[in-house]
Amino acid sequence: MRKNIVAGNWKMNNDLKATSKLVKQIRKSIKKTDLKNTRVIIAPTFVNLTMAVKRSKKSKLEVAAQNMHQAENGAFTGEISANMLKSVGVNIVVLGHSERRAYFGETDALLAEKVNAALAHKLEVIFCFGEELADRKAGKQETVVESQIKNALFHLEATAFKKIVLAYEPVWAIGTGETASPEQAQDMHAFIRKTLADKYGNDIANNVSILYGGSVKPENAQEIFSKPDVDGGLIGGAALKAEDFYEIVNAF
Ligand code: PEP
Repeated sequence: MRKNIVAGNWKMNNDLKATSKLVKQIRKSIKKTDLKNTRVIIAPTFVNLTMAVKRSKKSKLEVAAQNMHQAENGAFTGEISANMLKSVGVNIVVLGHSERRAYFGETDALLAEKVNAALAHKLEVIFCFGEELADRKAGKQETVVESQIKNALFHLEATAFKKIVLAYEPVWAIGTGETASPEQAQDMHAFIRKTLADKYGNDIANNVSILYGGSVKPENAQEIFSKPDVDGGLIGGAALKAEDFYEIVNAF
């Protein structure tokens, strides 16, 4: 059975002290909750991963990286490899976030390489994709999303999807305060699941968690998460406040 997931993408926020404080607060708040079928993940910056992993030990909190390089090692100044993440106890990586695509030129082809490298090191991948506002206005959202998924993931064997979580994040809803309506999210998630089923069969499609991302807040989380094909959220802004994040986790 697929899991519900609430994942916080902290982006380039929180120094060492702030990370320590927020991890402690989240850890404490989820301890008093019956998480049932819900996984709780946070993605702090690279430099704070070691500490976040340490502080999350013996709790249900899981720690992800926000990115990684596709090469094993070598002359790639400033980059971090899959093996390095594993070596500090990180087992999950977010790939393909729209900010990586927009500001750092990450293409579907590059992301396919990153996904391969992550899976080779047994990292679980939270794979992000989503259309821009112009695509949606032109009614092209499904075509765009389908090609992002196909280009980066459809070379994989079916078994690889045990280690993949999908995150649909319409670019026009990220950090804008504008959320896709629960119906828009459900329609797209159902389309994504069908796209997966057509290629890999219903078993795989029904077991992959598909998260929605884009201005999820305590006020709208419950309605979005109530949709049958929405298995949780990738949360940006609201993941930076322990109370808000906790309320979103509790929306299930
Ligand atoms: C994100 O960055 O993945 C995101 C969904 O951000 P926000 O929740 O702030 O829109």
